[in-house]
Amino acid sequence: MHSPVRDYLTEVLDSLADDDGGAVADYIPELAAADPDRCAIALTTVDGRTYSVGDDEVEFSIQSISKPFAYAAALADRGFEAVSATVGVEPSGEAFNELSLEGDTCRPRNPMINAGAIATHGLLVGADATEEARVDRARSFFSTLAGRELRIGEEVYRSEIDSADRNLAIAHMLRNYGIITATPHEIVDGYTRQCSVLVTARDLAMMGACLSNGGIHPTTHERVVDRRVARQVMSVMAGCGMYDGAGEWLTTVGIPAKSGVAGGLLGTLPGQCGIAVFSPRLDEHGNSVRGVAAFRRLSNDMNMHLVDAEPYGTTVLRDVVVAEDTTTFQIQGVIQFSGAEYILDALDSDDTDSPTVVFDVSGVSHFSDVGRRMVLEGMRRVRLDGRRVVLIDPDDALPDPDLGDGTYPDTAV
Ligand code: GLN
Repeated sequence: MHSPVRDYLTEVLDSLADDDGGAVADYIPELAAADPDRCAIALTTVDGRTYSVGDDEVEFSIQSISKPFAYAAALADRGFEAVSATVGVEPSGEAFNELSLEGDTCRPRNPMINAGAIATHGLLVGADATEEARVDRARSFFSTLAGRELRIGEEVYRSEIDSADRNLAIAHMLRNYGIITATPHEIVDGYTRQCSVLVTARDLAMMGACLSNGGIHPTTHERVVDRRVARQVMSVMAGCGMYDGAGEWLTTVGIPAKSGVAGGLLGTLPGQCGIAVFSPRLDEHGNSVRGVAAFRRLSNDMNMHLVDAEPYGTTVLRDVVVAEDTTTFQIQGVIQFSGAEYILDALDSDDTDSPTVVFDVSGVSHFSDVGRRMVLEGMRRVRLDGRRVVLIDPDDALPDPDLGDGTYPDTAV
């Protein structure tokens, strides 16, 4: 069979072809030269399959989509406390290049607007890092996430740095308040190079899928960021990634996202996939017009809105089999809070009184940390009731099933 997923993406791409609204960014002269009709969509699942259509191999500068990834690197390099002393997490409701700081702390409001991103760039590596080290940290980290060596687009870098007065003004303001320590020129130069890293829609989808997958790279299986860092970055994307269009975006599309002025738009759907669209014409917020349209469609068609979750708890118990002196709970799927609660409730209302209770977890693909702790606690309590607890776990879905007191359930196959 030929998977319909790619055909669906082709259909979405075709439906965008007539939309020529918006305009390419021209405050960076090199971006004004972009072919406005280029268009690509790429989607990478958390287990590493990529579907892509259109101009999916065309390189463009990452621009502001570098911001969430630089924020992730800064959190890894400096820790949560140091980063939050420098940059906040509140939506600004302002344009991406606004010269504004929080009234009380003088921090930039969030790392997705330029002020916050310039401050975040200054945090990379360590307090005494050189500009070269910071730029290389950003470029090589992005490369690890993309799964290929990315390079800086010299033309776009030159073009932007020659007219970077506004970002320099922001950096001077930041230095005045002690938010950055290096010189404004050095920080803006490094930040501009970070924004000039060249990517394709396929690269962005893979980079996004690393976040969606809780920080584990979908194809190399390497842990590239801490789970807490991935959560923090996607949360900030959800609240601030689309600048002054963030509220509208969250209610209509509901996917944590980040846009860039070269026309890239990245969405990260936790636990499912990374999605990237590339189309250079921008709306008044600086977000890709076709990118926004594509995400609206994907979110509606594929039910991808973050808060539009399906109830899944009741799917985790395949069957409860009662034989002569044994009751077997056949557990399956991914066990998170609501699934584990469903299992515990089934144990609570089990009135068979059979002396042996079997937990068959051979159908479980993953226990979340809380799912694991809840199910082990259930086993412990069943045994406290004076019943024998047996675990069937051929694939080691529940390693080290310590029942909390150094004892283990019996095992069977
Ligand atoms: N490099 C661009 C700037 O700082 C990034 C802005 C963007 O993509 N929104 O102005």
